[in-house]
Amino acid sequence: MAEILNGRKLAKALAPDLKTRVARLARPPGLAVVRVGDDPASEVYVRKKNDRAQRLGFFQRSHHLAHDTTQEALMALVDELNADDAVDGILVQLPLPDHLNSTPILDRIAQSKDVDGFHPYNVGLLSQKRAQLVPCTPLGVMRLLEHAGVALSGAQAVIVGRSNIVGRPMAMLLEQANATVTVCHSRTQDVASWVRQADVVVAAVGRPHFVKGEWIKPGAVVVDVGINRLADGSLVGDVETEAAAERAAAITPVPGGVGAMTIAMLMENTVRASELRQARA
Ligand code: NDP
Repeated sequence: MAEILNGRKLAKALAPDLKTRVARLARPPGLAVVRVGDDPASEVYVRKKNDRAQRLGFFQRSHHLAHDTTQEALMALVDELNADDAVDGILVQLPLPDHLNSTPILDRIAQSKDVDGFHPYNVGLLSQKRAQLVPCTPLGVMRLLEHAGVALSGAQAVIVGRSNIVGRPMAMLLEQANATVTVCHSRTQDVASWVRQADVVVAAVGRPHFVKGEWIKPGAVVVDVGINRLADGSLVGDVETEAAAERAAAITPVPGGVGAMTIAMLMENTVRASELRQARA
């Protein structure tokens, strides 16, 4: 049976070091979280992020804007937060309501405050292997793999999904760790045949149980990024966890795997952004 890669436990274990870094700063790191509308999942994520930031002693600004907020109003808020010296990190919770265009909003966030790592400047630095702020979910996956002692150099890694938030930056990080990386997407023919060859599988599709247990190569490491809520209210990932665990050497649970690490990495990015900004001041 597979080892369970417990993200919740690792996230907790990382907290003392972050607290020490916070204590060394002249002023607490500041995190501004912006939420627009009433998406229930976003509400939960924002609450978790704010709770964690509070426990670490951050300065916090939380903005909840009405669903019908205009693009201009949201841009103006980002400008205000960019100009606020007490704010080191700005996070605009996605998805935004359909009438808003997230790209110009994310592009407007100051590069130095881009704690989600989505700004093209930070994506460019990451692609050149001189990253400053790395997207939280793939960064959290790398930490989990590192902590579990997974050998990535020379490994065959298969990522299912190529979003800017997960799949693409994940591919860059795994390649930079010397894995040989294949990225599957909705036009890939026979995803199963790629997954069957993988020493490391990362599933970021957004479809419950998309990756079948029988696809997993015996001894592979399986990272399930997916978070899908079923009609009965339960949360499941993109992988058939139980069946995959029978073949895998290690697997992340949902919940309690990658999600917990995503929040931990947001905190780490905020501390890093604060350290960099305070060193420049
Ligand atoms: P997106 O919807 O942006 O991307 C999904 C990707 O899956 C796309 O690249 C898409 O391909 C691909 N895909 C869809 N259908 C298929 C298919 N049949 N075969 C192969 N590939 C397919 O999702 P995200 O990357 O934002 O999120 C993925 C999942 O991860 C979601 O469940 C989300 O909730 C979860 N998530 C979890 C986080 C965490 O902290 N644990 C953080 C972020 C996301 P194409 O590009 O061709 O459309």
